[in-house]
Amino acid sequence: RDDLTGLLNYRALSQEINRLANNNEIHNIVIGALDIDHFKKINDTYGHFVGNEVLNYFSTVFREQIHSAFHKHGYVYRFGGEEFTIVVSNHSLEEVYQLLQSIENFFNNKSIVTKEGIKLTISFSCSLTDRLNDELLDTTLKRADKMLYSVKNNGRGWIITDQHRKRPPKD
Ligand code: GH3
Ligand code: MG
Ligand code: MG
Repeated sequence: RDDLTGLLNYRALSQEINRLANNNEIHNIVIGALDIDHFKKINDTYGHFVGNEVLNYFSTVFREQIHSAFHKHGYVYRFGGEEFTIVVSNHSLEEVYQLLQSIENFFNNKSIVTKEGIKLTISFSCSLTDRLNDELLDTTLKRADKMLYSVKNNGRGWIITDQHRKRPPKD
């Protein structure tokens, strides 16, 4: 596990990917890549301790949401820095998308108040993609990463999937 956030780390992700690839009870895998927007600005404005607190809070909310929705079929990993990987098996891409949208709403509507009383809101960019047939999960992961870049380059703060490729209009 990762010391700061308590999330599973990159090494655990590699292990899980091997385990899932060899498990024939699994018929569907959704992989997501997620990155907090403008995180460097939080560090630069408030310092690294506040940055750490935000990472911790974000990770806790995320883990709870994924686990309560998907139980043993949903995991969140800290890929590195302010980047995370989501792995959900035996649930549809649409189900995962809906959960991610509700987490997005949660963070849009609820500011974080740090121990020092600093109030801030955060947004994230995210991609979700289905594993295609028997492709290597590494290939799925790389596609998720590539899709994330189009969110970063198109306004940030939205979720791209195999079916939802355009930034939704802001209301
Ligand atoms: P973008 O919206 O393009 O993702 O911008 P960004 O600022 O989020 O991304 P960038 O890659 O420029 O910066 C990420 C920052 O995250 C830089 C790094 O110092 C910070 N960071 C990485 N790991 C940690 C950590 O464990 N704690 C803290 N406080 N900061 C971290
Ligand atoms: Mg990043
Ligand atoms: Mg970022």
